[in-house]
Amino acid sequence: MDYRKKYLEFFASKGHAILPSASLIPENDPTTLFTGSGMQPMVPFLLGQKHALGTRLADAQKCFRSGDIEEVGDNRHTTFFEMLGNWSLGDYFKQEQISWMWEFLTSEIGLDPENLYFTCFRGNEELGIPRDTEAAGLWQKLFAEKSIDAQIVDFPERDGLQGGRIFYYSEKKNWWSRSGVPGNMPVGEPGGPDTEMFYDFGADRKLHENSDWAAEVCHVNCDCGRFVEIGNNVFMQYVKTEQGFEQLPQKNVDFGGGLERMAAAANNNPDVFTTDLFKQLRESIESLSGKTYGDRAEETFAFRVV
Ligand SMILES: [Zn+2]
Repeated sequence: MDYRKKYLEFFASKGHAILPSASLIPENDPTTLFTGSGMQPMVPFLLGQKHALGTRLADAQKCFRSGDIEEVGDNRHTTFFEMLGNWSLGDYFKQEQISWMWEFLTSEIGLDPENLYFTCFRGNEELGIPRDTEAAGLWQKLFAEKSIDAQIVDFPERDGLQGGRIFYYSEKKNWWSRSGVPGNMPVGEPGGPDTEMFYDFGADRKLHENSDWAAEVCHVNCDCGRFVEIGNNVFMQYVKTEQGFEQLPQKNVDFGGGLERMAAAANNNPDVFTTDLFKQLRESIESLSGKTYGDRAEETFAFRVV
């Protein structure tokens, strides 16, 4: 199944103009050598510049992240990947984005809702930024429509899952701005909460029984590999002013999700290298090396690095 095509057709059906991937070498942007996210070429438009194709945009952006190079070799990290993205430039907001994402994940690519988990922003009382109860409530309602009683849980990083499906994390995990956490933002800078989407490859994988993870509590943001983040919905909702955080007059949505990881979730196989995207490369290395992908751990590692 072609998930890239499915995603773009789905958002075209919701009134989005489909853009080609921007160049992997950024244009008019000296800050990085390579495009590292779907959002990067969209920044001028998220900051208010009008886009010729309107206020609803979507694409599949080729990305390169050299920062992940040391992680390559496990089942989910690559340096080059494709990021599926959709944007609302002062058009729709949380209600539409969350219900469309749910529809795409559960109906279009057929993920079992039982395997889905979400995180939301827990708020910052000192700075007067409220907890994102709207996003959490929208996910909870969608679970309820599938007869799943989704509990909303606070501070999961200390205490594990606690039977929850929707979790409030701090600004370190669920806040977006160009300068990081709200306290670091200069006056005039936009930012907002985000809600991340995770796929559960199963507690039966027993990843915490090996020595590396035995002492750690498992939660959705845990790096053990049970949960994989498949996308992040950023809601550009606030602007920092001299008086504090105020609502932006033009609120934007910025979604980015890894195509390879979504395909792995749809296959219910946590190894992104087993997806069709890597089939030709896998087969070429097999014929050149005489080895078989997946036979031996150190060879599998080498295949992934190549
Ligand atoms: Zn874990």
